[in-house]
Amino acid sequence: MATSKRNPRDAVPDLFDAAFLHVRQAAERLGTHPEVLQTLHYPKETLAANLLLRRDDASLATHKAWRCRYNDALGPTKGGIRFHPASNLREVMALALWMTCKCAVVDIPYGGAKGAVCVDPHALSDTELQRLAHAYVHAFARMIGPERDIPAPDVATDARTMAWMADEYARGLGRPEPAVITGKPVAYGGLAGRSGATGMGGFLVLRALARRLDLPRKDASVSIIGFGNAGGALADLLHGDGYRIVGLGDSKGAVFAPAGLDLDGVREAKRAHGSVADYTGKGVRRLRSADALVGSDCDLLVLAALQDEVHAGNADEVRARAVLEIANGPVTPDADAILARNGVEVVPDILANAGGVVVSYCEWLQNRSRDAWSGERVQSRLEDTMRAAARRVDDTAQELDASLRQAAYAVALRRLEAAILATSPLPTNGDSPSARPAGAQGAARG
Ligand code: GLU
Repeated sequence: MATSKRNPRDAVPDLFDAAFLHVRQAAERLGTHPEVLQTLHYPKETLAANLLLRRDDASLATHKAWRCRYNDALGPTKGGIRFHPASNLREVMALALWMTCKCAVVDIPYGGAKGAVCVDPHALSDTELQRLAHAYVHAFARMIGPERDIPAPDVATDARTMAWMADEYARGLGRPEPAVITGKPVAYGGLAGRSGATGMGGFLVLRALARRLDLPRKDASVSIIGFGNAGGALADLLHGDGYRIVGLGDSKGAVFAPAGLDLDGVREAKRAHGSVADYTGKGVRRLRSADALVGSDCDLLVLAALQDEVHAGNADEVRARAVLEIANGPVTPDADAILARNGVEVVPDILANAGGVVVSYCEWLQNRSRDAWSGERVQSRLEDTMRAAARRVDDTAQELDASLRQAAYAVALRRLEAAILATSPLPTNGDSPSARPAGAQGAARG
């Protein structure tokens, strides 16, 4: 099982290089100071460890693990930890760079980080998973901390994993420190809205960009690849808003029904048999894999699984008028160019999936102040933040005559540049860095 589906036709084979390409392109467009680009080309700090896991049968397993603090110019680093058998360092670096840009786009005072363990979590028992979570914290305790680096859930980790990790951190510290990790269970310092926050954030962004995306107001059809936490929550919200969910896919298969799918029925089939593909009903077609949904007949294609879902080899098949990136990096740079050429608008990951980290920020504020945030307070903070970010990106796209992706990177880069140069010995002009190479002086700034 590989996380990367990159097609041989994609010119940039490495995930980190592909992630950095967007930063470089935005920097060229803006005339970003070269030292800022140089700073952002490398992670600030990366640690690798081998986690020793005592299996239930008393044998010993070894799992590679990483934590990458990419950049902390805007605040303590923030980002999830994934458990996946194909995780690797370059992927962790790419994801940490995306977190850096994501926090900057939505203007929350965090830098970016990411962590991973190379493991198939489905092959482990609950007690083994708990020991693995403890081992991770033990190995990276010197890196994480409530004012330094704050982990959260990511692929195949959840509130329970976060509780195990926070518990292990507290054990080492000798006292509880809930602000060290977000995405915890509600009973253990978490927020009720956190698990659905990424889907809710994507929904709010879609609404804020409705005019630009020009989706039919009623009955727009949607295919969603990925029916986990984020994809599932978004499916419910879209359905409730009048959209017709025609395609759903997960790692084992997909179903397609032009008249619309019964979400409760699909959920029940997945719970009982393991996949959305096990759902049967009148007019429901079973597809061999979720990839087959890329070219499905729909108005909106939601990518909520893993990276590289749409690549140079299948981008031309996309029939949707808009693509919403709920996963991190689901469209390769080559596919991005193909979609743009074909007039498909892409709502980029660093904006579309930022709802999770925004609610993580609320949880962190709650934990640090030993306060209790109400559901309304969290929702209103999320709505304000996502709307403001979507509008800023939309305005920047018009200002620069750029795609939403390039605009999102431009918004992020302007904030990062100002913060990075604020501590540089280079001459600055008030808040706005003025020391820039010849030829870049006239570049658009904001
Ligand atoms: N893993 C999530 C993401 O990729 C959330 C990170 C967080 O809450 O810190 O955005």
